Amino acid sequence: MSNTNYDVIIIGGSYAGLSAALQLGRARQKVLIVDEGLRRNRFASHSHGFITQDHVDPAEIAAEARSQVMEYKTVEWVSGRADAARRNIEVGSGETSFAIGVRGVRYHSRRLILALGVRDILPDIDGLQERWGRSVFHCPYCHGYELNQGKIGVIAGSALSLHHALMLPDWGPTTLLLNGAFEPDRDQLHALAARGVVIEHFPVKALSNHADVQLADGRTLTFSGLFTLAPFEVSSPIAQQLGVDMEEGPLGFTIKTDAMKGTSIPGVFACGDAARPMASVALAVGDGNLAGVGAHRSLMFETIHHE
Ligand SMILES: Cc1cc2nc3c(=O)[nH]c(=O)nc-3n(C[C@H](O)[C@H](O)[C@H](O)COP(=O)(O)OP(=O)(O)OC[C@H]3O[C@@H](n4cnc5c(N)ncnc54)[C@H](O)[C@@H]3O)c2cc1C
Repeated sequence: MSNTNYDVIIIGGSYAGLSAALQLGRARQKVLIVDEGLRRNRFASHSHGFITQDHVDPAEIAAEARSQVMEYKTVEWVSGRADAARRNIEVGSGETSFAIGVRGVRYHSRRLILALGVRDILPDIDGLQERWGRSVFHCPYCHGYELNQGKIGVIAGSALSLHHALMLPDWGPTTLLLNGAFEPDRDQLHALAARGVVIEHFPVKALSNHADVQLADGRTLTFSGLFTLAPFEVSSPIAQQLGVDMEEGPLGFTIKTDAMKGTSIPGVFACGDAARPMASVALAVGDGNLAGVGAHRSLMFETIHHE
């Protein structure tokens, strides 16, 4: 089954996608947002660091954004997962268009914005998954302040955790739990000591209570909060299906974009966590704003044919 033609389809209706939709709705473009509702920060009860919305439930920020965007009559919403995307050539004009599938229904548009977000690949430690976003975090700026300068544990995932451990003493006395992930060299040990970081060599067996760490030697260390740097992957294979260029960052691949958030495929734009190595709600909103304007400019000033 096939459905209406849109100017722009946005896959992902969280902060980045909604911000793109806001610009496009205000430009009176016909927009479809497709979203399956799995925001990256859905595990956290409060969001921090986004001006005017500090310490607000992230679901509330997303719901308020959605209700403001849906006031624009040319914007439509479909709940569900877009599981296929393809480029078409329009009969007659030869112009490129895009088709996406959601639960067996096909939707068509002249431009596509990928606001897919990413999925964190958490370390396989007993008790960690259920504490993610509650007492185990990845971003000190997002959740460090609320620990009130209490004791912080950094669970190493790779040598990148050195950087994490060197940052965290500004938020509280820090212990680096190496957990067999890497062995700091002499210079690194010196840098850690200069920041007052305590090093723990015994492997982590499990997490319990609020943020207690059970070590393999039987000891339990109690912390106010824990941090770990988890690798991630873009939440949906749609970007790869379309064949957009990706770029590798320290924790995973993101979609490569230019200054107006255009991807390597003309007519396809990308924004938010899926298209930038540094992540936050504020950055996703800014990114989405650019992608919305980028897609609108492309509609006004570019004719896109298949290369
Ligand atoms: C535990 C935790 C706490 C965090 N706390 C903070 C904080 O306090 N402050 C802060 O600034 N940042 C925080 N972040 C980071 C923040 O969550 C992200 O930067 C932000 O969510 C990125 O927004 P986005 O719109 O790019 O992606 P997301 O919010 O992840 O949204 C992507 C959307 O796209 C949808 N989607 C993906 N693929 C498809 C598909 N094929 N079809 C349909 N829909 C699809 C998803 O379901 C989702 O709804 C936190 C992250 C985590 C993990």
